[in-house]
Amino acid sequence: MSLTAPAPAAATQPIPITAEYDVIVCGGGTAGLPAAVAAARTGARVAIVERYGFLGGNAAYSIMPCWHGLGEHHCGLLTQFAKRVEDFGAGPSPLKEGDHIEPEAIKILFEMMADEQKVHLYLHHFITGVVMDGPRVAGVITESKSGRRAFGGKCFVDASGDGDLCFHAGAQFNLGAEGKTQGMSLRFRIGYIHFDDFADWAEKQAAELNLGRLVRGVRDGGGKAWGKAFYFDSRLDRLFTQFRGRYPDLPEDTYFNCSSIRPNELSINTTRVYDLDGTNADDLTKAEIALRKQAWAVWRFLKENVPGFKDSAITETACQAGVRESRTIIGDYVLTTEDGAKNREFPDSVQTCRVHFDSHDKQKYDRGGNKGFVDVPYGIFLPKGLDAVLTAGRCTSCDHLMNSGFRRMENAFESGEVAGTAAALAAQKQQTARSLAVAELKEILRRNGFKTSQADTKV
Ligand SMILES: Cc1cc2nc3c(=O)[nH]c(=O)nc-3n(C[C@H](O)[C@H](O)[C@H](O)COP(=O)(O)OP(=O)(O)OC[C@H]3O[C@@H](n4cnc5c(N)ncnc54)[C@H](O)[C@@H]3O)c2cc1C
Repeated sequence: MSLTAPAPAAATQPIPITAEYDVIVCGGGTAGLPAAVAAARTGARVAIVERYGFLGGNAAYSIMPCWHGLGEHHCGLLTQFAKRVEDFGAGPSPLKEGDHIEPEAIKILFEMMADEQKVHLYLHHFITGVVMDGPRVAGVITESKSGRRAFGGKCFVDASGDGDLCFHAGAQFNLGAEGKTQGMSLRFRIGYIHFDDFADWAEKQAAELNLGRLVRGVRDGGGKAWGKAFYFDSRLDRLFTQFRGRYPDLPEDTYFNCSSIRPNELSINTTRVYDLDGTNADDLTKAEIALRKQAWAVWRFLKENVPGFKDSAITETACQAGVRESRTIIGDYVLTTEDGAKNREFPDSVQTCRVHFDSHDKQKYDRGGNKGFVDVPYGIFLPKGLDAVLTAGRCTSCDHLMNSGFRRMENAFESGEVAGTAAALAAQKQQTARSLAVAELKEILRRNGFKTSQADTKV
C-alpha cells in the first residue's frame, strides 16, 4: 500500500505578508550580522530571519573559537567587533592573529550589535521558500511555531551559509569539487582536565604527535586560569589507529586541534565525516549520529589512556554538525584559486580576502595559499540571473579551493559588510544591486574604515 500525505491546509491558502523591510538578511551568522548592521547603518529598515534561537551562526553553534584575521588586517565592522570582544572580556586584549575568543559570548555580542542598529530579529524562523516577481526576489517564506509566514523586502542578503534563499529562487550553484565537499565535524568540549599531568605525559611522546605547543601552553599557565587561552594543532589522532580495536568509532582521516579558553577545559576539533551533503537532511542525520559517536569515542580513549583525563567529562557537543562547505551560488564572477594564487587585483574590487586555503578534503588537508591577499570583485556577490539579492559568507561565488579560504571568519564577516551596504543602497535607490555604481559603494565602505581592495591597504 502506498500512502501520499494530503497537502497541509495552509499550503492551499494565500500566505499573509507578516512584515516588509528595505533589506532582509537571511541567516544571522558570521556574515549575516555585519550585513544587517551595515544595511541599517546605511539607512535601511532591516530584519534578520534566523532558524535558531540565537545569532552567531557557526561561530556560536560549532563552539568555534578561532577567528582568523582578528589581528593586523581587519577593518570596518570587524575592527569594531574585535574591540567589543576585548571590552566584554571574551578574549585576550589586544586580539592578535590566531587568538581565540569565547564562542558563547558571540551570541550576546551579535544581539547587542543588532539591537543598537534597531535590526528586527525573527529568530526561530526557518526559510523554506521565496516569493518571486520575475527574476526579482520579492519575499521569503518561513516555517515556525507561528506557522507559515512571508516577509517582503526591497533587497535581500543570503547569508545562510548554504545559500538556501538563492536555491529556492532557482539560482545555479556548485557543490564542492565535482560534488565532493569538505568533511563535516562536530566540535566538543572536555572539562575537568588536569593539564599538568597531560603536559608531563605529552613531553615524553614521539615528535610526530606534535605536542610541543600543548606543553608550552600549559607551562605558560594555559588551561589553569581565565585569559590563559592557548591553541595546539597536534597529531594525537595518529594514536587512533592503534586504539581503533578498542574504540571503533574513533575518527579517520583527521587531525587533533584544540583550544583551551576556559580553565581545565579543551574545545576539540577532531571528529570527521566525508561524502555527505550538508544540504541533504538524511545525510545530515547520518552525520550527527556518526560524529557524536566519534566525540564520545575520543573522550573515552583520552580518559582511559591519557594522563590528565581521568576525572574529565564531555561538557558540551556542538548543537549541530559543522558544515564546512555546501552550495556556492554562481555569481556574475566566480573567484578562482588562480586569482588567489596570483594575488589578482580587480577594478571593481569591494573587499580583500587573505589567500590562505583551509580545505579539509578526504585525501588531502590543503592549507596552502601564499598568505597574501586577493581583490574581491563585486560580481561574486551577485547571483547569476537573480535580482534584488546578494550573497555573503560561505555560499558566495568561489571555486572549491578559493572558497576554503573565503569561508574563514574574517573574510565571511567582511563580505557581510559589503553585501549589507550594497543591499541598502539598492533599496534606497530603487535599483537592482547589479546596476549600482561600484565606485559609490566603495566610497561608502571606505568612509566606514573598510578596505575595498589591496590598493586601499597600501594607502
Ligand atoms: C567545524 C568547523 C570549524 C571551523 N573552524 C574555523 C576556524 O578555525 N577559523 C575560521 O576562520 N573559520 C572556521 N570555520 C569556518 C567558518 O566558521 C564558517 O565558514 C563561517 O562561520 C561561515 O559564515 P556564514 O555567515 O557564511 O555562515 P554561518 O555562520 O553558518 O551562518 C549562517 C546562518 O544562517 C542560518 N540559516 C541557515 N539556513 C537557514 C534557513 N534556511 N533559514 C533561516 N536561517 C538559516 C544558520 O542558523 C546560521 O545562523 C569552521 C567551520 C566549521 C564547520
